[in-house]
Amino acid sequence: MIDARPLTDRHQRRINYLRVSVTDRCNLRCRYCMPEEGVPSLGHGAILSYEEFLRVGRVAVALGIEKIRVTGGEPLVRKGIEDFLGRLARLGGLRDLALTTNGLLLAERVQALRDAGLRRVNVSLDTLRPDRFERITRRPGLDRVLAGIRAARDAGLRPVKVNVVAMRGVNHDEILDFAAFAREEGVQVRFIEFMPAGAAWEEARVVPAREILETLAAALGPLRTLPNGPAGGPSRVFELPGGGTVGVISPLSDHFCGTCNRLRLTADGRLRTCLFSRNEIDLRAVLRSGADDRELARVLREAVSAKPAGHGLSAAPDGPRDRPSMHRVGG
Ligand code: SAM
Ligand code: SF4
Repeated sequence: MIDARPLTDRHQRRINYLRVSVTDRCNLRCRYCMPEEGVPSLGHGAILSYEEFLRVGRVAVALGIEKIRVTGGEPLVRKGIEDFLGRLARLGGLRDLALTTNGLLLAERVQALRDAGLRRVNVSLDTLRPDRFERITRRPGLDRVLAGIRAARDAGLRPVKVNVVAMRGVNHDEILDFAAFAREEGVQVRFIEFMPAGAAWEEARVVPAREILETLAAALGPLRTLPNGPAGGPSRVFELPGGGTVGVISPLSDHFCGTCNRLRLTADGRLRTCLFSRNEIDLRAVLRSGADDRELARVLREAVSAKPAGHGLSAAPDGPRDRPSMHRVGG
């Protein structure tokens, strides 16, 4: 029997959300996330098998994890992802299963994903302009992403959230276009502050959430605050005058470390208790050492107990403590 008390850290935060990066590979090369070339991909043996991910998921759920998000790299490029999601969806005790994707393969896969048990999806999309899409991601494909978003909505996935990383000089002039998109397409658009990750981050490119809300209100009128559902996480959500829902996520200007409930598992089985901490626990070694579930649960509990109080980004004038590779850690 494992010790099944809910996971709680030293700062009295209840940890109930696990993000799992199932691959470090991707079919896009977003400039802020991955270099064009020279990214050594993890070998097959280095990446956890679905069985290994499921084992961690099962033990984590027994310890009170209620929400799992599957991410990457691009999760839809890993073979067998539908079956994996289906098996996760059937874990007793899991209340919420979510997927974050760049949407490129979504239209052709959405029915299989839905049939497997996926009920909602987040699609990352930073621009509505084809030429800009190609500049940001180094690949064509805006049409396919838009088709994916519509297919997800039409297949009945709810909600469909579209995540936009707001970057000054890159896409900050599209805030109103995205507001119109939210209204016209019936999706929730969420603007995310550009975080110091990857190699291409510059502070001057950060567009604070406050500025995004001011831009929306100045053009459209007062925004009405909406309650953020239980699965809403750290976003603040608003209804636009004339309809449409937008959210902002402000990890930098108004960080939410005090209520952080997350753990992250990388494709090669490293457990991160904070996106910006260098500290990783090698769960793969534990899994492959023949450890039983009790031992695995003990390692998870010990890792959680050492979760740092906060990312300290604003307090560190020299920059963040770590610049995580988002395609490896999963965003
Ligand atoms: N490939 C999938 C996708 O793009 O949705 C999943 C993995 S991607 C690393 C997860 C999320 O992290 C994406 O929404 C991406 O925009 C976001 N992301 C990557 N680098 C970021 C940064 N520096 N600041 C904020 N968000 C970032
Ligand atoms: Fe790929 Fe997502 Fe990173 Fe873009 S943000 S390169 S889609 S992993």
